[in-house]
Amino acid sequence: MEKSKLVVGNMKMVMNAKDINDFVNAFDKKKHDKNVVLCPSSLYLPYFIGKSYCVGIQNIAVYEEGAYTGEVSSKQASSMKIDYTIIGHSERRDYFKETDEIVRKKILLALQSKLKVILCIGESESEREELKTYKVLKRQITSALKGLEKNEVKNIIIAYEPIWAIGTGKVPTKQEIIDTVEFIKSIVSDLYGKPCRVLYGGSVNDQNIASLNKIDTLDGYLVGGASCKVSKFEKIIEVVNR
Ligand code: PEP
Repeated sequence: MEKSKLVVGNMKMVMNAKDINDFVNAFDKKKHDKNVVLCPSSLYLPYFIGKSYCVGIQNIAVYEEGAYTGEVSSKQASSMKIDYTIIGHSERRDYFKETDEIVRKKILLALQSKLKVILCIGESESEREELKTYKVLKRQITSALKGLEKNEVKNIIIAYEPIWAIGTGKVPTKQEIIDTVEFIKSIVSDLYGKPCRVLYGGSVNDQNIASLNKIDTLDGYLVGGASCKVSKFEKIIEVVNR
């Protein structure tokens, strides 16, 4: 298991060309290592490729190639030297109706194209209130990993992102994160004899990262909103690397 923690920025769909240009100019003043992954909108990926840090795409098509207007395939992403793909983000599961089966197919395509996968899982607020969190997470994990070989699972990183924590400023308690990370790792261990890396995502920012980073079973963070501000994102990276 790799020791260094990953810090992944999911920049979503919030910046225009000038914002991206300003971001890259400021961010590239420091040398960031391969444990930093930036995932801008597909359109802006070329601004980030070939740097000291890694690059991820926020989504890939569920089809291998062909007449799928507006989509980007895993093969195309890989041919641009993109390292990672996020798959199964709750915004895609919700707004774009991505089912567990679609998530599974995308993972297979990503792995075939040698992209590393950041698989997002997480429960909704109502599922949490109904005490269904572990049931939902287990379903999402077992479905996503179905049919994968042990040597493929090492290229999967699971991001635990409670939906109610994304963009809300709410964060689970330290103990809840510890227990959930342990649960996720135990499911993967039961299936493959070895856990996979687990990130936490959901309202991570420059103010709460020091406290989150005391959880030593976490293998890193998936950062949304705070990854779009260089100063905040760099502060997160600095705390994680301390
Ligand atoms: C996300 O969308 O993956 C995310 C974690 O968002 P935020 O950090 O803004 O809650």
